[in-house]
Amino acid sequence: MSVPINGLSVDVEDWFQVGAFEKVIDRENWNSLATRVERNCDEILRLFADAGVKGTFFTLGWVAERNPALMWRIAEEGHEVASHGWDHERVFRLGRKAFAADIDRARKVIEDASGQTVKGYRAPSFSIDARTPWAFEVLAEQGYAYSSSVAPIAHDHYGWREAPRFAFRPIADAELIEIPVTTARFAGRRLAAGGGGFFRVLPYGFSRWAIRQVNRDDRRPAVFYFHPWEIDPGQPRVEGAPLRSRFRHYTNLSVMADKLERLVGEFRWGRMDELAAREALRAEPLAFAA
Ligand SMILES: [Zn+2]
Repeated sequence: MSVPINGLSVDVEDWFQVGAFEKVIDRENWNSLATRVERNCDEILRLFADAGVKGTFFTLGWVAERNPALMWRIAEEGHEVASHGWDHERVFRLGRKAFAADIDRARKVIEDASGQTVKGYRAPSFSIDARTPWAFEVLAEQGYAYSSSVAPIAHDHYGWREAPRFAFRPIADAELIEIPVTTARFAGRRLAAGGGGFFRVLPYGFSRWAIRQVNRDDRRPAVFYFHPWEIDPGQPRVEGAPLRSRFRHYTNLSVMADKLERLVGEFRWGRMDELAAREALRAEPLAFAA
């Protein structure tokens, strides 16, 4: 059996839009802050082009509206453009009706800017969980092929511990599949291993071990994600945020690009929509882990 092709994804948001800083930076002030998302995404596009890999850019509608040329470039270079919602409000805070409006608005703007049809969605801060059973129904109603919005793990900011680790069908009579972000198993526990701060803060060897485990032992593709601000040591520093948030946000920004180069060179990577098409063939109905 051949080695699985993993899913490479970028959650396209600016340095001031991360969940960890939402208590110190109001959405009303976003427009007055220095945007760095375009230059950072261009660096990511260069990195992907040098490595010869394609990926998926889950983009905030708010960002797409202000950076249409960037959206066009991402699509033109053969990457998938997908949705990360409008302005990073977590799904469990929106409620069904507001969620439907949020993703509809984001999708229209992203499609207009990129010229590409949006097929995939990633919830801000992996905020689809046991509290939001209606979210998958809304995604199915709006015709999404896949979602990658669940972290099947217990974590202080997010997580749905009982969810399956690999692709599942959340609604019995719909085509929609959910592709959770990658976890590894160790000593009977699940460890977050799909990227973000874990990839940046922990030694590279941890991620290599985890993705190998998923590819070789589970024989499934891994789903990896990171953010444009994670490769940007020059971003403004946010004062007043909790120490733990600042540690998570600012550690190892300067080594991230090198780590990413290693990662994309060492494993097989591709777009999430292509991964979803393969995983749809073996996605099981939603059943909870013991
Ligand atoms: Zn995000």
